[in-house]
Amino acid sequence: MFIVPESAIASLITPEASFAAVESVFAAMSKGDAYNFPVIREAIGHADALYGFKSGFDRAGLALGLKSGGYWPGNEAKGLTNHQSTVFLFDADTGKVKAVVGGNLLTALRTAAASAVSIKHLAREDAKVLGMIGAGHQSAFQMRAAVKQRNFEKVIGWNYHPEMLPKLEATATELGLPFEAVELADMGARADVIISITSSFAPTLMSAHVTPGTHIACMGTDTKGKQEVEAKLLTRAHVFTDEIAQSISIGEAQHAISEGLIEQNDITEIGAVINGTATGRTGADDITLFDGTGVGLQDLAVAASVVEAAIAAGVAIEVDF
Ligand code: NAD
Repeated sequence: MFIVPESAIASLITPEASFAAVESVFAAMSKGDAYNFPVIREAIGHADALYGFKSGFDRAGLALGLKSGGYWPGNEAKGLTNHQSTVFLFDADTGKVKAVVGGNLLTALRTAAASAVSIKHLAREDAKVLGMIGAGHQSAFQMRAAVKQRNFEKVIGWNYHPEMLPKLEATATELGLPFEAVELADMGARADVIISITSSFAPTLMSAHVTPGTHIACMGTDTKGKQEVEAKLLTRAHVFTDEIAQSISIGEAQHAISEGLIEQNDITEIGAVINGTATGRTGADDITLFDGTGVGLQDLAVAASVVEAAIAAGVAIEVDF
């Protein structure tokens, strides 16, 4: 088996390769070529941590495996990222372990790739203003991936902890874009695309904040109980997701579903839009909402691409296991 340590990942995968891997696995899921197994995610009652497994099998690409890990909110104070994860890949023909791959950077890249895929397929072509809600570890990756999809001219941002806003400004500056901190109503009125990536358990972005034509990528809600936007907003929006089973159970749509505001049939898999078997945005005034819950197959897709690159570059550590 091969080991690809976290420290080697950055030189082995680009945001473009992550985007391509994620877009193609979403398409494969929708064709029925790849499927995710049910997610296990538990509050372990220690260190305030959420821990679990996301796993699946891509029959076409023969990627079989799991990502194990979760979210430790106290890690930043220890100089570590709050997300800690590791991907395990197995040989689909024999079940033997094939590779162990550091999953921290890959998680950020594949999550940013997912919202970027949603922007590519659902946002208005003339989108100019990018709104960011959330200024944590993921936010910079999200912004960098998003700006590749449209000709954004400005970034506006809001964060629950305003002292973190300079981080968003620094990323916008790195990307050559002006940044302005705004209130949520202003964000809703001015942003053409809004990415929400927070660890919130209560809605931040309310339906009244959001104006027609906006695309919203809800990327933070990946666990039962979490919520970033008001459930009522989902009744005004065309709702898309990576995987419907996750969207209604651990994603943003869990609340609108449990409150009886929308039904499962109201949600479309983004893979179907990518494959051309479902309609995405139907007009300039549509509100489109992508519920990016984060699926195991995204992790397997980027990890498999990294293992190939690591073997080719001679940096994969081979272990007799
Ligand atoms: P982080 O801890 O670095 O940042 C957390 C962010 O949430 C900060 O902006 C913080 O100010 C904000 N926040 C904290 N409490 C809040 C509250 N009560 N209300 C509103 N905002 C609040 O975390 P991160 O690594 O940036 O990840 C953010 C979220 O994204 C996490 O919840 C994580 O589980 C989720 N996530 C989802 C996926 C996916 O595939 N969908 C992948 C990775 C991370």
